Amino acid sequence: RHRPLTLLGLGDMGTALARTWLAAGHPLTVWNRTPAKAEALAAEGAAVAGSAAAAVCANTLIVLCLLDDASIATVLDGVDLTGKDLVNLTTGTPAEGRARAAWAEERGARFVDAGIMATPAMIGVPEAGGYVFYSGSRALFDTHRTTLEVPAGARYVGTDPGHAALHDVALLSAMYGLFAGISHAYALIEGEDIAPKDLAPLLSEWLGAMGFFVGNAAERLTSRDFTSGVVSNLAMQVAGSGTLLRTAAGQGVSAELIEPYLNLMRERLDADPAAHAGEDTVGAITLLRRGSGR
Ligand code: NDP
Repeated sequence: RHRPLTLLGLGDMGTALARTWLAAGHPLTVWNRTPAKAEALAAEGAAVAGSAAAAVCANTLIVLCLLDDASIATVLDGVDLTGKDLVNLTTGTPAEGRARAAWAEERGARFVDAGIMATPAMIGVPEAGGYVFYSGSRALFDTHRTTLEVPAGARYVGTDPGHAALHDVALLSAMYGLFAGISHAYALIEGEDIAPKDLAPLLSEWLGAMGFFVGNAAERLTSRDFTSGVVSNLAMQVAGSGTLLRTAAGQGVSAELIEPYLNLMRERLDADPAAHAGEDTVGAITLLRRGSGR
């Protein structure tokens, strides 16, 4: 009932993954470039392969958890992948996911790429809420879903092997924008008679309330209606951005983390004030695709 599998890469994440499969009763073959990292797992029941090729040979399901895409090429160079099911948990870009899928297919393997939305401490702890995005071969995912769900929840996001990485990076990028705003807020009060721990609950509450922006943006980007029901119009927000910048200057704080977004709002307004003054800030998203894409 518990399918056997092979795991290549026993860093912090790989080791956490390995433990959950062993604990759940899956026969597990492991390999790591630095063999010492496999010793503890051997004591817990893992079969340790002497080479990546031997580890791949041992099972059909092959999970990769290496540092980056380049290390995959190094590890699997010349290894026979015919008939294998490759699951790549190594973080990469959408383009790397697509190229790696084509590379696997040429070698006779099925492939899904993945993006792990968890830290090693969240692996094997369902209540921690971590999960993994998967995309690529639907047949592979359906075949191994139960096994893949052992370390963390599994969310399949389509046949395009680039889409797991794209979801992963979209969420991480939004996270850094949030971190940037929070960092600026704390910098503003530094040295004042306001304790960070007193600002903290106010920040959490405000960011929670502003979370409506996620759904609001999705609706407007779908309908292309950027003006209906707007309560905080762009002209007002652009005028108000001066207050944010002057306050930062007055506090001796660099506005570098928030200025790019304020500039984008102004650019949207200036492009056609009559058309955009009554929007909220969602329309500014349409300015961001400046490159040629894929
Ligand atoms: P670690 O740095 O702890 O481990 C890296 C692993 O990659 C090790 O097994 C290392 O082997 C191996 N490796 C690196 N370079 C090569 C190479 N050239 N050839 C062969 N093996 C190589 O990283 P993590 O385990 O934390 O991360 C693994 C993947 O998981 C990464 O893609 C990471 O982005 C992703 N991830 C990690 C998260 C985290 O919080 N840790 C969260 C989400 C995703 P060796 O032991 O010999 O050095």
